[in-house]
Order: sequence, then structure tokens, then C-alpha cells
Amino acid sequence: YAKQLGGNQYQSYTPTLHSESLDDLTLETSLRYAVERQELQLYYQPIVGLEEGNIVGAEALVRWHHPQQGMIPPVKFIPLAEQTGLISAIGEWVLQTACNQTKSWQAEGLPPVRVAVNLSFRQFNQVDLSERLVRILDNSGLDPRYLELELTESILVQNVELTICKLKELKSMGVKISLDDFGTGYSSLSYLQQFPFDLLKIDRCFVQDINTNATNAALTHAIIQMAHSLNLKVIAEGVETSEELAVLYENKCDNIQGYLFSRPVKAEEFKQMLQEGKRLDFQPERVRHLTE
Ligand code: C2E
Ligand code: MG
Ligand code: MG
Ligand code: MG
Repeated sequence: YAKQLGGNQYQSYTPTLHSESLDDLTLETSLRYAVERQELQLYYQPIVGLEEGNIVGAEALVRWHHPQQGMIPPVKFIPLAEQTGLISAIGEWVLQTACNQTKSWQAEGLPPVRVAVNLSFRQFNQVDLSERLVRILDNSGLDPRYLELELTESILVQNVELTICKLKELKSMGVKISLDDFGTGYSSLSYLQQFPFDLLKIDRCFVQDINTNATNAALTHAIIQMAHSLNLKVIAEGVETSEELAVLYENKCDNIQGYLFSRPVKAEEFKQMLQEGKRLDFQPERVRHLTE
């Protein structure tokens, strides 16, 4: 029976597999031209200081407007870009665009904010990454301290000494390094102590329902405590409700990012938020009872 079931599964799986690889092939062809055809666009999601309530930065998130297929989310094409090496050109475009944009907001006299850019595994491992970064920062005129590079735990599985060396090289340029999606990998905080990160982003899966889910609450509490003792600032990702926010506030989380404050928006819209001085509408005393 098991064999028969296996056979059936195989049969029904084959066509999907086939069409998926065909899809990837056509996507790959069009992704090749996406940069030069200007089909990529950067969205910016505000990052907010929890104590002060103001915008302190933005995460740049890439979007692909495919001429026929419409908007393709990054989870669909970034892995493909990684596999094919196209990430090099895309990543370069993302970095340059984010730095130029942030510098131009500052030049217009808006309150200076930092910009966070996601670096994929392959990008981090480019031998000339720091040269590329120097050139990009130079072109834009952005002060490096406003640039933050987001890396995931995947880079930690490599040679530890070499990775630390690379991180130090990047940091010596003045940029900040954050560990993205923390908790989704396997590394413990004590292991992280070896790496010179500046910020830690707690993944949305821990933040979700933190006000009702005791396990998530306990984990988030422990992560924030330990991160602070290692001198890391903490950003909570994917904050959607004021109840989640209240718990994060009680736990002294430094920054939050999520739909509660704003979805990722176009550059124009983000600029408007900065101009208007959009703030987090949050009164701790009104929600304190939620955490008691
Ligand atoms: P990430 O770096 O962890 O980015 C956060 C993702 O969570 C974004 O998805 C954002 O839209 C989403 N998000 C933010 N707040 C909320 C919330 O309150 N609720 C929910 N449900 N989601 C929220 P997005 O833009 O689809 O990006 C997905 C992933 O794609 C990113 O995860 C990142 O790993 C990758 N990515 C995006 N842009 C780039 C890029 O320029 N380069 C590279 N290498 N990767 C990128
Ligand atoms: Mg990120
Ligand atoms: Mg993340
Ligand atoms: Mg994520």
C-alpha cells in the first residue's frame, strides 16, 4: 500500500515539478533584464523607536513589477536570483538606490534616518563586497553610519573566523550590521556573542500573538534580555497589534517594525511620513493592564 501511495504521490507531483521548473526558466529570463528595464522598485518600511515613538529608519524591500505577471514578491525571485548569480546585479542596484534615496532625503532637510538593506548569502560572500560598498557609499555621498546591512543566520554556518573577519571589515567602514530573522535558524545567543553584530531583529514568528502566547512571550523576553546584555539593540519584526506592542514595550524592546505602524511603502510615501513627523500612536499607561 505504501508503495502504491508513493507511486501516486510521485505521479501527481511530477507535473507540478515540471511546470515549476518551466516557470523558473521563464522567470529567470525576464529577471535577467529586470534591472535594465527598470522593473525593480524599492519600498521602504518604517522602523520606529519604541521609547520616543518616532521614525528612526526604514528597511528597503525590493519589488518586481513584471510586465505580464504583475507584482512578484521577493520570496519568489530572490532565491532564483541567488541560484543564478543575478543577485549580484540586483543587490548592487538595491544598495545604490537605497543609499542615494536616503542621502537625498537628508539633503532635502528631512530628519536623518538610517536605511537597512538585506544582503543575501551570496552577496555577503562576494570577494569584493567591501570595495563595492565603498564605491556605492562614495557615489551616494551617504554617511556610512546611516547604512545598516541585514544578514541572516545562514552566514554563520561558514568558517567562523573568516565570517568574523568579514564582519569586522564591513564595520570598520562605519556601517552597522544586523542579524535578521533571529530565531528561525539554530544559533543560540551565546554563540552570537562571537560575532560583532550591532542589532538583532526578532523574527515575526516570535512576536506574533506575544500577548496571548506564553511561549512566545517568554522567548521574546529572554531574547531581549540577553541581547541587551551583549550590547545589541533589538528590533521586533512584524508587529501587527497594539497588544503585541504593549508587551514589547514592557520588555524594553528598542525598535519595532510592522503593519501596525506601516506596511512597506513607496519612497514618496515614506518621505511624506518623515515630513509630517508621523509617530507611533501609543500610550503605555492605557495598555499596561494588558501585560499585568
Ligand atoms: P525580511 O528581511 O525579514 O523582511 C521583512 C518582511 O516581513 C517583508 O516582506 C515585510 O513586508 C514583511 N512584514 C513587515 N511587517 C509585517 C507585518 O506586520 N506582518 C507581516 N505578515 N509581514 C510583515 P517582503 O517585503 O515580502 O520580503 C520578504 C523577504 O525577502 C525579506 O524578509 C528578505 O529576506 C527578502 N528581501 C526583500 N528585499 C530584499 C533585497 O533587496 N535583497 C535581498 N537579498 N533580500 C530581500
Ligand atoms: Mg530584512
Ligand atoms: Mg526579517
Ligand atoms: Mg523575515
